[in-house]
Amino acid sequence: MAVSFNELNLCEEILDALDSAGYKKPTPVQEQAIPAILQGVDLQVSAQTGTGKTAAFLLPILQKLSQLDVEGEKVPQALILTPTRELAIQIAENFEIYSQNLEFNSTAVFGGASMGTQIKKLAKGVDVIIATPGRLLDHTAQGTVDLSNVKFLVLDEADRMLDMGFKHDIRHIQKNLPAKKQSLLFSATFPPEVLELAASTLHQPSRIQVARSNAAVETVTQVVHPVAAARKLDLLTHIIQKNDLNQVLVFTKTKEMADTVVNHLKGEKISAVALHGDKTQAARKRALKEFKDIKIRILVATDIASRGIDIDTLMYVINFELPGVPEDYVHRIGRTGRAGEKGKAITLISADERRHLKDIERFLKREIPVVKIGDYDRGDNLSMKKKKSVSVMGSKKSSSTERKFSEGDKRGAKQRQGAKPKKKNQKKFKRR
Ligand code: AMP
Repeated sequence: MAVSFNELNLCEEILDALDSAGYKKPTPVQEQAIPAILQGVDLQVSAQTGTGKTAAFLLPILQKLSQLDVEGEKVPQALILTPTRELAIQIAENFEIYSQNLEFNSTAVFGGASMGTQIKKLAKGVDVIIATPGRLLDHTAQGTVDLSNVKFLVLDEADRMLDMGFKHDIRHIQKNLPAKKQSLLFSATFPPEVLELAASTLHQPSRIQVARSNAAVETVTQVVHPVAAARKLDLLTHIIQKNDLNQVLVFTKTKEMADTVVNHLKGEKISAVALHGDKTQAARKRALKEFKDIKIRILVATDIASRGIDIDTLMYVINFELPGVPEDYVHRIGRTGRAGEKGKAITLISADERRHLKDIERFLKREIPVVKIGDYDRGDNLSMKKKKSVSVMGSKKSSSTERKFSEGDKRGAKQRQGAKPKKKNQKKFKRR
């Protein structure tokens, strides 16, 4: 990237904040979106999670607010709509960092938290509202928020907001906004309903496409391990133990399965916690913090709960089950390999999931290497034999982790002979 933040016409206060955040240069989406937003055009951005899209809209909005000389007015000037509470909190945290040398404030408004506390914060006066659509609509209905001065509207992760059924809430909210404003729509994918939302929201938008919308984050190494459905828990434990993994995000399709996985891991003395819609806001926040601080090793999340998870150093994502739609696979693996860091996405696949895997590979336009570990796939009716299996054993190109995964699996051999697996490995755990 040729451009530096200095060349993007951002004020000293913002540049200093970026410097203290350790951002050296803009990411591609920032490089393209910041000048366009500063020019004042509406924008339709195709950008995946982990590309730095939050700063791509927050930085120019802050810059424009500081030029508008509205500091101190404390009426909402910008509204950011986002699908989940975790994402809202994440954006609010980023706002704090980027605005640290300015006088602007923000508040996050989302369901599952006290309405009263939010009303008090809104009543005190706020420049930027970061909200999930449902709860914001409750506030507009009660008259506890005034959106009549909003000059900037951001629809963040528009595809997910529509997936989650927020279409009508977004429409209602838009009726409370002034006609004259700058609107920005960010989405990883652009199915027809997102295009429809973009067409009805944006006025002669500039379009930015940072990466092919169906391309997996390039920095993430992907691998598939075939496994009998009944042995998935064992294989998961094995992978974590054998490689001494200390910070892994595991995905399941359902809340029930997330709880099952957590209970199993705890039984194996591996610290784990679940993150899903049944958890209270406080429990989710605590789980995320403990995971970020590596006080717990494994976070087991469902797709919706995972949206706001943003950990710079997260190396491993494990798909315990494949998601129903290929887009979610891309979102999941985008939790690792963030902002150019390397990451690894491991998928455990039982025979009944092969069709989903094919869909994902078609979506990615690439095959994901299959690496068999021991005999964990034994007993599944349909083996993965027909699919081209890539052995990484001894391959100079493969990562050390991959090599570890495919090394002779003595424990698997013992199990084949009916012997009880040794507990010895567990001594290697770094207990946290
Ligand atoms: P996002 O796609 O907005 O969720 O951002 C992904 C991650 O990249 C976040 O952890 C950001 O803090 C980080 N990030 C965003 N922009 C930059 C940058 N220019 N340099 C380094 N890290 C960044």
